Amino acid sequence: MALGVPDSIKAFLFDMDGVITRTATVHAAAWKQAFDELLQGRSKQTGEPFRPFDPVEDYDRYVDGREREDGVREFVASRQITLPEGRPGDRPGTPTVCGIANRKNAILLDKLAHERVGVFDDTVAYVGAVRGLGLPRAVVSASANAAQVLISAGVADLFDARIDGIVAAEKHLRGKPAPDMFWAGAEALGVPPGQAVVFEDALAGVAAGRAGQFGFVVGVDRVGQAEALKDQGADVVVSDVRELLAQP
Ligand SMILES: [Mg+2]
Repeated sequence: MALGVPDSIKAFLFDMDGVITRTATVHAAAWKQAFDELLQGRSKQTGEPFRPFDPVEDYDRYVDGREREDGVREFVASRQITLPEGRPGDRPGTPTVCGIANRKNAILLDKLAHERVGVFDDTVAYVGAVRGLGLPRAVVSASANAAQVLISAGVADLFDARIDGIVAAEKHLRGKPAPDMFWAGAEALGVPPGQAVVFEDALAGVAAGRAGQFGFVVGVDRVGQAEALKDQGADVVVSDVRELLAQP
């Protein structure tokens, strides 16, 4: 077929962040607002100068890819701040680990509702081609906010099924690099793993595709790690998903 995957492939599974949507920018902005509120408050109390959260360096080093509460702990520790843990139900903005994590999530949800999340045009074009051929497509993402992200990006209706952090918690699915979530995606589309292809930009996600014995694994290289994606088991690595459409 003209999709650059083996003819045996009958269903398509896509990771979300980094493959379909440019979610990192909105996460970084939400973290910045939540942390800057905290830091400004402390600066007023102590008289020490306010040094804001850096949405590039601090984001990469302390919060990117971590669970929300872990991100709070790591970043505040980097500023020699210790916060009490608090409770999961803490009011957003309470100076506790849970309160700051809740504040970040509240800001994120507000941004998702009012701003448009960017997409990767190459993947959107490819998904459109898959849809044009009448083949089923699912999003497989660890995010608990995947539904809001897809709606904000304007691409929710491109997919037939969604396996996200909420489904994973309900069904007790293990996170990547375990293959559970991709297996659930194939099941939702009604095919065995061997007839599904996995699209992933993360090393752990490619490893999940390999571990799950999927029919094909496409590594999507957004940051210049093609070799590492291959080492984790990608059958092919592309930096632009449209490259697959160009293949004979
Ligand atoms: Mg990703």
